[in-house]
Amino acid sequence: MDIKNEIKKRKTFAIISHPDAGKTTLTEKLLLFGGAIREAGTVKGKKSGKFATSDWMKVEQERGISVTSSVMQFDFDGYKINILDTPGHEDFSEDTYRTLMAVDSAVMVIDAAKGIEPQTLKLFKVCKMRGIPIFTFINKLDRMGKEPFELLEEIESTLEIETYPMTWPIGMGPSFFGIINRRDRTITPFREEDKLTLDDDYQLAEPHKIEADSAYRDSIDEFMLVEEAGDEFDKEKIAKGDLTPVFFGSALSTFGIEEFLDTYVDFAPQPTGRETTEGQEIDPTDDDFSGFIFKIQANMDPKHRDRLAFMRVVSGKFTRGMDATLARNKKKSKITRATMFMADDKETINEAYAGDIIGLYDTGNYQIGDTLYSGKKREYVDLPQFTPELFMKVSAKNVMKQKHFYKGIEQLVQEGAIQYYKSMHTNQPILGAVGQLQFEVFEHRMKNEYNTDIIMEPVGKKIARWVENEEDIKDSMNSPRANLVYDRYDQQVFLFENDFAMRWFADKYPEIKLYSLL
Ligand code: GDP
Repeated sequence: MDIKNEIKKRKTFAIISHPDAGKTTLTEKLLLFGGAIREAGTVKGKKSGKFATSDWMKVEQERGISVTSSVMQFDFDGYKINILDTPGHEDFSEDTYRTLMAVDSAVMVIDAAKGIEPQTLKLFKVCKMRGIPIFTFINKLDRMGKEPFELLEEIESTLEIETYPMTWPIGMGPSFFGIINRRDRTITPFREEDKLTLDDDYQLAEPHKIEADSAYRDSIDEFMLVEEAGDEFDKEKIAKGDLTPVFFGSALSTFGIEEFLDTYVDFAPQPTGRETTEGQEIDPTDDDFSGFIFKIQANMDPKHRDRLAFMRVVSGKFTRGMDATLARNKKKSKITRATMFMADDKETINEAYAGDIIGLYDTGNYQIGDTLYSGKKREYVDLPQFTPELFMKVSAKNVMKQKHFYKGIEQLVQEGAIQYYKSMHTNQPILGAVGQLQFEVFEHRMKNEYNTDIIMEPVGKKIARWVENEEDIKDSMNSPRANLVYDRYDQQVFLFENDFAMRWFADKYPEIKLYSLL
């Protein structure tokens, strides 16, 4: 009973946006609202002296992008809410996807002046693949932006999702008066203290000077139109990610946040189960503890070379000091150090429940996708890998540094920072990436964390295809235009020069069944 109650209290979501839309600010304000402001600097390492010293985070600072993703928990209205930050840059969309695998809903932040930006679109598509509820926060209403209808129209047409405004803005920029809360027909004013109420005829219950304002009357007309002609509220559609509740506000002014949270906790799902490799759906309230690792973050503290493996607790209860088995190698060990980012620091935790995200101290034992369990044996389906499009041959500049070189590659590949391949006959290491920036971060980290200068030689853009029936592959199929390599699991992969080369190959060898990853 105790476990069931605890799990019911949990909500776990990822926050996505195009850089600069206000993701960091919104996250900080959500934490603040949770009454549990916990050193908001941990959100990005931007304002915190502690993490900002980490060298490779300078890469992201210099570029003004967030490469890392962090996890925090806060309390609101009796709920324990886990918020997971995601990298805003599209080159790290593989990382975002893995983070999305660990949550039950997503919050998309949009800049009202910019609308849907390229990265929002990409990240949203990644979200859609997961089929989880998506909540939209339209930010920066304190500035002039696009008209609310234009924004909704843009979301609907570019993202192919229905919208349901939960709040509606009255004016914007200098004339921003506030938001109408659709659920209780109150108006939260932006500059005044007291809430106003709208009656059934869209009139203010108490007379107010704003009624004489034409921008106000236009907004009320718009709101009436939304109520009459907008999409119907449909819980099922929200659950499937086919309809997004939309909120308007200003993160910087801490405005519209409570309205968002109030609705979010009512409609966001409680922790959902996950599927095992045997096709069994494990319920979060299952008695036995289990979870999977979706992210590994290295060298959070530059003084120690440890890594933190982030685990989503899928079922049951985690207790510090418990024995857990690693499904990949069946090794059992005691988990003595686990952490959660709360309050003004990370805290050692004694327990956690399904839906929670905990950080496990790792000395190199864990890999992305690993399952840990106690009690009945479980193994969750592997986290999908993206099909890389860019490739680079890589070697150590100094041949004496081979050991460091391979150690670095191994660890960074385990973290999911980059994908590893090697050529058929020479075993030449080849890196695969979804975006160019991954190579740059790799190079930087090899130098800073593994003290190894590397030489990278572009192989260029390739179409990578795996083979269902590997036994039918013959050496003669390997050519510069259909280059056969091994992936990190020693599976054979063809790197095709281009689309034409791939079609030519398929015609010539119809017996070879090619497939791509996500
Ligand atoms: P992120 O890159 O999405 O994490 O965006 P940030 O939270 O770092 O915000 C980017 C910039 O927009 C910063 O300068 C913020 O101060 C600013 N910003 C965030 N929210 C608002 C808002 O509601 N109104 C205004 N005017 N600026 C905002």
